[in-house]
Amino acid sequence: MSAAATVLLKPGKERSLARRHPWVYAGAVASVSGAPANGALVAVRASDQRFLAWAAYSPGSAIRARCWSFAERDRIDAAWLASRIEAAVARRRELHESSDALRLVFGEADGLPGLVADRYGDYLVVQIQAAGVEAHRELLLDTLCRAAACANVFDRSDPALRARERLEARSGVLRGAAPPELVPIREFGVRYRVDVRRGHKTGFYLDQRDNRRLAGDLVGRLERRLGRAPRVLNCFCYTGGFGIAAACAGAAAVVSIDSSADALELARGNAALNALGAQDGADTRLQWRCADVFEQLRALRAEDQRFDLIVLDPPKFATNQHQVERAARAYKDINLGALRLLERGGALMSFSCSGAIDVDLFQKIVAGAVIDAQVDCYLRARLSAGADHPTLVTHPEGEYLKGLLLERA
Ligand code: SAH
Repeated sequence: MSAAATVLLKPGKERSLARRHPWVYAGAVASVSGAPANGALVAVRASDQRFLAWAAYSPGSAIRARCWSFAERDRIDAAWLASRIEAAVARRRELHESSDALRLVFGEADGLPGLVADRYGDYLVVQIQAAGVEAHRELLLDTLCRAAACANVFDRSDPALRARERLEARSGVLRGAAPPELVPIREFGVRYRVDVRRGHKTGFYLDQRDNRRLAGDLVGRLERRLGRAPRVLNCFCYTGGFGIAAACAGAAAVVSIDSSADALELARGNAALNALGAQDGADTRLQWRCADVFEQLRALRAEDQRFDLIVLDPPKFATNQHQVERAARAYKDINLGALRLLERGGALMSFSCSGAIDVDLFQKIVAGAVIDAQVDCYLRARLSAGADHPTLVTHPEGEYLKGLLLERA
């Protein structure tokens, strides 16, 4: 891999790279010399020719280059790329005790922009969504299989994201055996089955692992405080996640809501897997509602239902800056609806995975809901994704998931 090609930036456009932010936008580029291929190694230089970074070139993308390294002395060769994978896997070593489902590689945060690798038991599920990692796919997969001691790799790349990088759509088995229809995993003792072919992301919301455990811990804490088993409401439940963790921890009742019938079918199966509730619906401890959360929050109020623990884990309401205002109204609406159902002393876990809404804005939105609900709430904790989804301080875009743990006075 020689570094013949150079991407020269416009004057002043070196600032974000100087702060170790790993992206070069198309608008920052003055000229490209050496005709690099899609995904090829380039040296990024400031307008005065000063070296800034080694990067992978993406001629078709709005992010024209993604940085591998800011050190001129680094040689971006096979050994260097392999060392990134090995470091990423080593970084998560102690997390294996908590779960056999983990994110092993998280793109920019692990110095491998565009590559995601999730482990579900004996299967690795990858997303290869930038030209640079596609160019070194075989080497990266070889190293990943060796480092993770896992021979099976399934591709769940998003065709739309690959198209933006001028990469053809691809998915399916890349190495070893095809995963079963549902892959069994275990998370802090709770069992789930994951549809890696059709599920969201690579099949499961691995980023919420620690927060699902916290939901279980809160059930225990609330039970001790209330002197009775708490009632739980799990909004946007997907395949059961938080609600099943809460039920396993001894919740008296769990009402779970999702608009997807497919997700709820998996959720029911996951409940049965943990010996919770009969699949024929005879157990009234778990209730599943296939409906819209916005509308159900009002319906539950009309039914006079009250809860001790409520989880709000909605999909991304804002995918870009233009949608922030509308998204803010939606977040406020569900938080207000939830607070009106929350018992005194109860806990609300409220999340946003909108990258365009930072934690300060999210807290303001939730505070607005608290004011409208005319209740007093303490902020007990700020929540985030688990340690297998690290955030580089120089790449704050990587920190998309934020949550607040509120306690009603
Ligand atoms: N908490 C889950 C992940 C939630 S993902 C976990 O830990 O696994 C968001 C979910 O919201 C998806 O399952 C989607 O089907 C659901 N959803 C999106 N909009 C909705 C709406 N308006 N009402 C109900 N569910 C909705």
